[in-house]
Amino acid sequence: MVEETVRERIIRVLMESRTPLSAREIAELVGLDPVRGEAEVYEHLRHIAKTLRRRYGGRAVLYMVPPRCRSCGYVFSDLTEPRRPSRCPRCKSERIEPPRFYIDVD
Ligand SMILES: [Zn+2]
Repeated sequence: MVEETVRERIIRVLMESRTPLSAREIAELVGLDPVRGEAEVYEHLRHIAKTLRRRYGGRAVLYMVPPRCRSCGYVFSDLTEPRRPSRCPRCKSERIEPPRFYIDVD
């Protein structure tokens, strides 16, 4: 049996989870270091949307709950790709609630 790749494990974890997960939580669940693996998870997430489209033709979709500023409540609703913003454009705070992800299967 071929070992499941990190990307496949991320897809499985997101399909099985009942709540949206942050990149750190995903890293931990797939066996990566939660802090150092965070950037790697974001990189995989950018590809997973395409993988799902190719494999399921729109029946499984990756969703992102947008990041939010913990200081003023600003929501980063216009983010076009999975990432964690470093500071709030409105109040300049760096206390940003990271985006969370889930996969919805039809
Ligand atoms: Zn803010």
